[in-house]
Formats: sequence, C-alpha cells, structure tokens
Amino acid sequence: MEGERMGVFENISIPGHEMVSFFQDKTIGLKSIIAVHNSTLGPTCGGLRIWPYESEEAALKDVLNLSKAMTYKSAMAGLELGGGKGVILLNKNQSKTEELIKSYGRFVDTLGGKYITTTDVGSDVNDLQWISEETKHVVGLPVNQGGSGDTSIMTGLGVYLGMKACANHIWGTDSLSGKTVAFQGFGKVAKQAAIHLVKEGVNIIATDIDDFKLKQASELGAQIVGVSEIYDAKSDIFSPCALGGTINSNTIPRLSAQIIAGGANNQLESDEMCALLSEAGIIYAPDYVINAGGIINASCEIGAEYSELKSREKTERIFDITSNILKISDDQKISTVEACNKIVLEKLSN
Ligand code: NAD
Repeated sequence: MEGERMGVFENISIPGHEMVSFFQDKTIGLKSIIAVHNSTLGPTCGGLRIWPYESEEAALKDVLNLSKAMTYKSAMAGLELGGGKGVILLNKNQSKTEELIKSYGRFVDTLGGKYITTTDVGSDVNDLQWISEETKHVVGLPVNQGGSGDTSIMTGLGVYLGMKACANHIWGTDSLSGKTVAFQGFGKVAKQAAIHLVKEGVNIIATDIDDFKLKQASELGAQIVGVSEIYDAKSDIFSPCALGGTINSNTIPRLSAQIIAGGANNQLESDEMCALLSEAGIIYAPDYVINAGGIINASCEIGAEYSELKSREKTERIFDITSNILKISDDQKISTVEACNKIVLEKLSN
C-alpha cells in the first residue's frame, strides 16, 4: 500500500507555520513530518533529520523549531529562501533503509517544490541520491552530479568565522591562536570547523557519544572528555555541535567560556537563556547566523550552476553579519537573539 496521510493535526494549533504535513507509509515503517514555516522570501529549504525520537510530540516540536530557525537563518544570510524542515521518526531498533528514504522522497515530491530537502543529522549524501530518484526538490547532491556537495564544509567555515567575529568583538583581535575551543559533538560540522582552528594554533577539547568521531577528534590533536564533563572543561569558546537545547539554566553556570559559538541548531533551551548568559558575561553567537554556511552552499545550486568560489565568498560574509549583530546588541543593550529577531522580522514584513 502506498503512503497515507494521518489526520492528527486538526486539533493542534501551530501558530506561525504556513503548513505542516504528516506522512505515514505503513508497509515500510516510515513516519515523517515536514514543516513549512515561512515562504515570504522564497521556496522553503532545510535538511532532513532522521532520529529515534522519544515521542511523536518530541518530533513535532523539533521540526517546528527547526523549520522556524531555517526561515531566520536564510533571512539573516540574505538568501531568497524560506524555512522548512523534514524529520523521519525512527522506532527503537529501526535503521534507515533505501525504501524508507525513497518513500520520504515521494512525500517531498507531493509538496510540489514548496519545500526543498537536503541533509541534517542522521542523513547524508547517499540518502539524497535516493531522494533524487523520487523528486527534483532536493539540493546537496555531489558536485559531480550537478549538486553543491557536502554542506558541512561551508557550515564549519561559517562557525569558525563566527567564532573569530566574537573574538574580535571582546578581545580586540580575531586571532584565536592559543585559545581553547570545547566541542560538544564532533560530527561533520565540528570536524570542519576544527580543521580551521587547528591550523590557527587553537587547542581543541571534544566529546561525542560515538567512538569513531572521538577517534577523528584525537587524530586532530583534541583532548577527549566525557559527555557530561564538556560543560566543566576549561575553555575560551564553548561550541555546541550535537543537538539543540544544551544551553540551559543547569549548564550555563558550569561554563568557563566567554563565547558560545557552535553549529547545532536551537542551542538555547529558550530565549530566556539570553538573560542568564548576559549575567554570566557570556557572548552568544546566534546559532542560525553562524551555521548558515550549509544553506548558503545549497542555495548556490538553486537556479544556477554551482560555484564553490561564490559559495565561499557568500559564507565568508558570516564574519561581518556576526560582527554587526554583536554591535547592535551592544549599542541597543539587547541580546544578540533580539538583534537578529528585529532584522528578520523587518525583512519578512517588507
Ligand atoms: P553529525 O551527525 O555529523 O554530528 C553530530 C554529532 O553529535 C555526532 O557525531 C553525534 O554522535 C554527536 N552527538 C549526538 N548526541 C550527543 C551528545 N549528547 N553528546 C555529545 N555528542 C553527541 O551532524 P552535523 O552535520 O555535524 O550537525 C551538527 C549540528 O549542526 C546539528 O545540530 C545540525 O542540525 C547542525 N547543522 C548542521 C549543518 C550541516 O551543514 N551539516 C548545517 C547547519 C546546522
């Protein structure tokens, strides 16, 4: 039997989102949600997250937050794209399969281009190849197949430049030489950022739940610590690069870093954390500003032949965009998150 839509949304109020679709394909065990947050600036685009969520509510919350963040991310990066996101909910002990991914591809296709999919946590370029057999609304395929390739290269570059902009703001120099960066999660993005940092003489501390990732971190010279110990590790910059929500009232008092700058989406448990960060004297580089390299890279494939040079040039603007946010935050005595919100809401209302 082909996939069928679930009718669970009628009674759920989802303010601020243009569209949220649920899809279930019982024959192969696919449960998926796609959220289209805002398409004012263009078609919505965002990655596919494949995750063993604890509940359907948790998956819904995640996809709503992530798609909204994509609207803000693309707007801040000056792209003609809106925000959307897809998730596949894995059952306990369920692994992704070609059939599962292709079924998701058919789901994306039913939306007729309102949502363009790419990779996020749990999905990779192989998945995109399968998806591309079912829909043309996919970006991030390998460069030799007409795509823009691995998003994490530019995302890592942007995170690195965001760190440098913060350093310049508080230490008066963008040099990070001799500083220590603590990575929470050492996946694709963290590794790409760390490659730049190591070249600049930065000390790396890393944690991950995956031994292979820890091996990669060690090979780059990182000091490895336990998953919980990362908050207490002495560092200048704390870099969340795993999942969201790890900056909260329990973890902020444990941080020694003066800067939080990482790749993970939705790092703050809530916007209220801005006040706690300010009290603790910690500067926060808004996640969606400095992790925009991936969507910038993917956008270079839409409507034009992909050029790595153009993508790099656009990604390098993250340094100036971050510096501007930090300045507005200082001048207007508002948090960096509020500074971004103001800019985005103005763009969306024009
Ligand atoms: P990834 O899956 O390659 O890396 C995430 C890493 O975090 C994995 O190695 C995983 O084992 C680890 N991890 C998970 N839970 C952990 C925990 N509790 N403690 C420590 N480590 C843990 O994904 P990625 O592409 O590197 O993305 C990292 C983050 O950046 C995600 O939040 C993603 O949404 C965001 N992001 C990625 C891109 C991109 O281009 N890939 C772009 C923008 C934002």
